[in-house]
Amino acid sequence: MKNLYSQLPAIDTLLRDPHLQPLIAETGNAFLTRLLRQLQQEAREHIQRQHALPDWHENWPQEAIRRAQRQQRSALRPVFNLTGTVLHTNLGRAVLSDRAIAAVTACLRQPVTLEYALDDAARGHRDRAVSALLCELTGAEAACIVNNNAAAVLLMLATLAAGREVVMSRGELVEIGGAFRIPDVMRQAGCQLVEVGTTNRTHLKDYRAAIGEHTGLLMKVHTSNYQIQGFTHAVTEQELVTLGEAHQLPVISDLGSGSLIDMTAYGLPAEPMPQQLIAAGVSLVSFSGDKLLGGPQAGIIVGKKALIDQLQQHPLKRALRVDKMTLAALEATLQLYRQPETLQEALPTLRLLTRPAHEILQQAERLMPALEQAWGAQFAVAIAPCSSQIGSGSLPVDRLPGFAITFTPHSGHGSELQTLAQRWRTLARPVIGRIQEGRLWLDLRCLDDEAALIQALVP
Ligand SMILES: *Cc1c(COP(=O)(O)O)cnc(C)c1O
Repeated sequence: MKNLYSQLPAIDTLLRDPHLQPLIAETGNAFLTRLLRQLQQEAREHIQRQHALPDWHENWPQEAIRRAQRQQRSALRPVFNLTGTVLHTNLGRAVLSDRAIAAVTACLRQPVTLEYALDDAARGHRDRAVSALLCELTGAEAACIVNNNAAAVLLMLATLAAGREVVMSRGELVEIGGAFRIPDVMRQAGCQLVEVGTTNRTHLKDYRAAIGEHTGLLMKVHTSNYQIQGFTHAVTEQELVTLGEAHQLPVISDLGSGSLIDMTAYGLPAEPMPQQLIAAGVSLVSFSGDKLLGGPQAGIIVGKKALIDQLQQHPLKRALRVDKMTLAALEATLQLYRQPETLQEALPTLRLLTRPAHEILQQAERLMPALEQAWGAQFAVAIAPCSSQIGSGSLPVDRLPGFAITFTPHSGHGSELQTLAQRWRTLARPVIGRIQEGRLWLDLRCLDDEAALIQALVP
């Protein structure tokens, strides 16, 4: 035992090892010293428990470099999203356009006119540039940007109806996921929820009957992630606006995703457009920056100037405001919408959602030979039709036809699938697929870089 301990190298000696000099140059002495102490401690514990040296004892510098690389790796690792969900919340939703990426980089390198109006050198308004663009695109009078759409809902409620009642249909009391439930948000905003109608049917007279002296707001929420079919009735925004006007009550609408373009023109499921609701007279409309819009995480509120001014002055706005990176990315993304004819190519979200199935099939055919050769001994590798999802609260039944490469273990053992999926998750750039029906599916809809995938999967 004594003998084993004496074989452990001294930290000082290791720090002078030529193999470790590049690492010291990169990370500094202190970091490496701490790492080597950890290794030494581990080795001592290993000797104590196993009466043997750890298997990496043969090459301490190599082990130190391996661990240093792992510790230096970003927690936000780039992955291949082959899950079949285009806007995957856990994978960061929208992939941004080149233009948005360039705009963010530029605003990080130099000081920018974030809240500085060049004409009179007075303090400007941080949302002003993006507001003007949003007004142009939606026909609204003004706009307000916050950290995400959940924050947008909270800010609208807290500003317009704290201490008052908010009338909403029972059919729209949604949970978005991640503990965002409309009734809870109402409570947090200090509003009293007044539910009207039933799960499947709500009429204008239900809203009318609920209006009283304490009412502050009429609200609608777009129930994007589920659908009630059959004997249903919902009140349109237009009808609600007429009712609101008669009682001098604002009407707000949380669209969730929303889309500034007509999705059906691209062969995609219909999605309500903020500009339609603005045209219908809705006071405030909120939607996400990183869902179908294809931009950065943000909550966008457009609507009447008098109400937007109130939101801008509310203390919560200060807490929920976005930074210059978000504003730069959002502005650049919105600018793409000025040129609808190039949008499909320039906006990754739209390009991925509209990739034709035949193009994905051709890609699968190009990838097959290498994958078959690498994995064919253990798995049946095949091309299979599949249907991708939009994701991010869109209707799970609205599917996009495409193709996947699937891996089925010859042995029929499901555990082999788990092992394969796990192995691919630990790659330098992890490959994330999905296991379904006894196969591992790599849905190719979101695959941009074929060569990189081959490099990752073909040892
Ligand atoms: C997604 C969604 C939200 C939350 O938006 P985030 O930008 O994710 O905060 C709120 N309401 C609806 C209806 C949604 O679909």
